[in-house]
Amino acid sequence: MTKNSCPHEEFAAQVNVNRLLDGEGGSVTGFMAEITVTCQQCRTRFQFLGPEVGLNPRHPTVSPHRDELRVPLAPHDRWSPSLFPAVRFRKGDS
Ligand SMILES: [Zn+2]
Repeated sequence: MTKNSCPHEEFAAQVNVNRLLDGEGGSVTGFMAEITVTCQQCRTRFQFLGPEVGLNPRHPTVSPHRDELRVPLAPHDRWSPSLFPAVRFRKGDS
């Protein structure tokens, strides 16, 4: 990988949100945001550190080059534990 002398001082972020369907034409099972960040000065794409590489509807992941963060999300008015059965709540949580 080559390095440039850009100080990386200005950024642009792009977010695409996709619906996850139960098969083609099926019901919506979830939503996924795909986020990329690019240096506005040199166009270098930033890598996301931390999440594992892959695609998972239940937790954040990154693309194979780590330059796209994939985050499951849900609209506040339609969130339900059934979308994310791995999430557990204690009694009394609202
Ligand atoms: Zn830069």
